[in-house]
Amino acid sequence: MRYSGFSVFMQALNRHKGWKPTWRDAAPKPSYDVIIIGGGGHGLATAHYLAKVHGITNVAVIEKGWIGSGNAGRNTTIIRSNYLLPGNEAFYELSMKLWEGLEQDVNYNAMVSQRGVLNLCHTDAQRDAFARRGNSMRLHGADAELLDPEGVRKLVPFLNFDDARFPIKGGLFQPRGGTARHDAVVWGYAHAASERGVDIVQNCEVTGFLREGGRVVGIETSRGTIRANKIGMAVAGNSGRVAEMAGFRLPIESHVLQAFVSEAIKPMIPTVVTYGAGHFYISQSDKGGLVFGGDIDGYNSYAQRGNLPTVEDVCEGGMSLMPAIGRVRLLRSWGGIMDMSMDGSPIIDHSPVDGLYVNSGWCYGGFKATPASGFCFAHLIATGRMHETATAYRLDRFATGHVIDEKGVGARPNLH
Ligand SMILES: Cc1cc2nc3c(=O)[nH]c(=O)nc-3n(C[C@H](O)[C@H](O)[C@H](O)COP(=O)(O)OP(=O)(O)OC[C@H]3O[C@@H](n4cnc5c(N)ncnc54)[C@H](O)[C@@H]3O)c2cc1C
Repeated sequence: MRYSGFSVFMQALNRHKGWKPTWRDAAPKPSYDVIIIGGGGHGLATAHYLAKVHGITNVAVIEKGWIGSGNAGRNTTIIRSNYLLPGNEAFYELSMKLWEGLEQDVNYNAMVSQRGVLNLCHTDAQRDAFARRGNSMRLHGADAELLDPEGVRKLVPFLNFDDARFPIKGGLFQPRGGTARHDAVVWGYAHAASERGVDIVQNCEVTGFLREGGRVVGIETSRGTIRANKIGMAVAGNSGRVAEMAGFRLPIESHVLQAFVSEAIKPMIPTVVTYGAGHFYISQSDKGGLVFGGDIDGYNSYAQRGNLPTVEDVCEGGMSLMPAIGRVRLLRSWGGIMDMSMDGSPIIDHSPVDGLYVNSGWCYGGFKATPASGFCFAHLIATGRMHETATAYRLDRFATGHVIDEKGVGARPNLH
């Protein structure tokens, strides 16, 4: 089924009785060319690009819950390509370009909104670092503007400029950044992949791997054994668990990250704002809710829920940046499991086990990467070679020392 203004009009004439499910909820077949474990954004995007770019359609996406029940449906929806290091910036700019054409590509309204992303700086040193990052972004073809305090005030006049504990010295603005509706991204990729014949199998938990001659040739699941020539894992916060089933360890720690949404208020925040003196970021959804978050909870966990000290810490950060939000009531909070890598950068590579490929280590920045992650992972699975923009995301970099430490904090996953 194709979505368009015309189809909405025609369905309206028919009292909307003719809509079909957005994707096929398939039962697993005995075997596939490729199995992707994990029905989050990355797994579904991989299936879409395998089918569309490489013509590989005998593919199953195996999801233990419902698609989007992991981090894909829990994030704060921010998309951007404002990175410093060459290993990262080209990849995230590829992702940004794919976001810009995503809705046409998958024929689904993912509510991609390029409302801009503003990173605030509060010291001279931070401003210098932002200038350097902005230059790096521009060298890679991305857009970046360095704003002085007046430029920031024009864009977001409601911040605390007058008696702030950490005065705002300026900001790095990426106008092409913004937000996308996270579950619509999941549904859009599912729609496009399913239309090309991909099986999306929900409520099917992978519990082990089938091996022959040192190679994985299938998976054991709660719905039986399924064979495949190639298997890709894109299970985000569960990467350590699935790797353990295959017999290897990943340089990943699983941590909880929470997010929050307020009651709906009139339009107030026109862009995404991140606080440079504390860990706090905020945007406003199209429904009017203020969507915000901050730091990870700081301990290892597989629970999709967090604890109250972080709620307090995040709200304190928000209050010190924009005291006006103190009168807004909090509506909901939730948590997701982050696959925090040791250098804060992801892994898209062969695994140590023949036939199994790894997509992992997205920390809390993987939503923006969804299109490029799927694109590059599909390239790797289809061709056996890394895509040119993802060559830095090797698994062996942790052994060889070629880490991509964007924040310069070292092997401290809780700080990335
Ligand atoms: C609160 C929060 C805020 C965030 N904010 C942002 C943001 O603003 N911008 C940004 O870029 N990133 C953000 N992120 C990070 C981003 O959401 C993740 O990095 C990204 O979604 C991970 O990729 P995914 O979508 O494929 O993961 P997921 O949606 O978690 O997909 C993995 C899937 O694998 C399934 N799975 C796991 N184990 C098995 C198994 N054994 N068998 C079958 N299936 C299995 C899970 O059920 C899950 O559905 C945020 C995350 C959270 C939690």
